[in-house]
Amino acid sequence: MELQPGGITFDVLPGETVLEAALRQQIDLPHGCQEGLCGNCLGRLLAGTVAYDEPPPALDEDARAGGLALLCQARPLENLVVAIGAGEDSAPPLHYPARVETTQRLAPGVMQLWLRLPAAAPLPYQPGQYIDILLPDGGRRAFSLANAPGEGTRLELHVRRVAGGRFTGWVFDGLQAGQLLRIHGPLGRFRFDRQSSRPAILVAGGTGFAPIKAMIESLLAGGDERPLYLFRGARRRSGLYLDDLVDDWCQHHPNLNDTPVLSEPLPGDDWQGARGTLVDAVVRRYPDLSGYDVYAAGPPAMIDAATAAFSAHGLPPGQFHHDRFEFAAPAPARR
Ligand SMILES: Cc1cc2nc3c(=O)[nH]c(=O)nc-3n(C[C@H](O)[C@H](O)[C@H](O)COP(=O)(O)OP(=O)(O)OC[C@H]3O[C@@H](n4cnc5c(N)ncnc54)[C@H](O)[C@@H]3O)c2cc1C
Repeated sequence: MELQPGGITFDVLPGETVLEAALRQQIDLPHGCQEGLCGNCLGRLLAGTVAYDEPPPALDEDARAGGLALLCQARPLENLVVAIGAGEDSAPPLHYPARVETTQRLAPGVMQLWLRLPAAAPLPYQPGQYIDILLPDGGRRAFSLANAPGEGTRLELHVRRVAGGRFTGWVFDGLQAGQLLRIHGPLGRFRFDRQSSRPAILVAGGTGFAPIKAMIESLLAGGDERPLYLFRGARRRSGLYLDDLVDDWCQHHPNLNDTPVLSEPLPGDDWQGARGTLVDAVVRRYPDLSGYDVYAAGPPAMIDAATAAFSAHGLPPGQFHHDRFEFAAPAPARR
């Protein structure tokens, strides 16, 4: 089988998925959960057909009919040519060295990293996309780009500490400014639909605020005046971050409205704002979603709840754009 762009060819053994075969042969194919959930390994079939053991969750009928394939689940039925990457309007993903410029705690469990790329090697991306950080053992960790694309040489990440997490634990306990990381990107199809003129609801669960921030920054900088309804969620007051920035946006851009939501405020939080889940807060305020575009990023459980609830409240599937912060699969075994 062959990957485009680049024309890399490799064998797929009987019974293997395309991703299994690529990883066995140390071929760099973007991927995430390896369970058909996150959609990071989507490719477009340029030639050939594939079969699935079960209908893959992250690939609906329309996407399959449109020629997309989920490579962690797809088993080739014949020789394939597959285009990988994040779509026609995205730059091809490449490897970059990235120096950690600063680290700053935004909330008790959230670290902001600013990375600097060599001036001669900027990374072009669309707001909403993410990068993989490449670990020395071959593992990858996905993080959304939190700043609007500028010259592409400074990248902002918001890293939530995962209990027992190998990479995120190191970010909090070991990472120093000046250290060098290796990254791969841009990746992902979570983008703002600039063709649409509908008002947008932007739903950010925890560090799901990162890609939503990149989108909002880019829209506001471009003078987009459509109504933007931001919903930011955390469990406690201390989990909401960059409040001053959001307040500043709202002061200068009357088309932006911010609703912070806490699911489990503490008595000491003295919280007067919205309570409960982000998804409930959205449908309480907008019981008919048919006239909106909705963008949601955050934990898989939030995206699952949003998919069900928003569809029940009239949101057509084509108007729902989401990014599941799926956990990374273990690093492939080295041969
Ligand atoms: C497209 C995409 C974009 C993402 N963007 C961001 C982002 O901008 N900011 C951000 O903070 N995270 C983001 N994530 C999630 C992030 O990639 C994971 O939290 C990270 O891989 C954890 O790495 P680790 O080495 O610390 O954990 P690991 O050592 O891989 O995992 C340790 C344990 O924690 C579990 N675990 C791993 N990740 C999570 C998690 N997220 N939540 C709960 N349990 C987990 C594992 O199953 C395992 O049991 C994104 C994920 C995807 C797929």
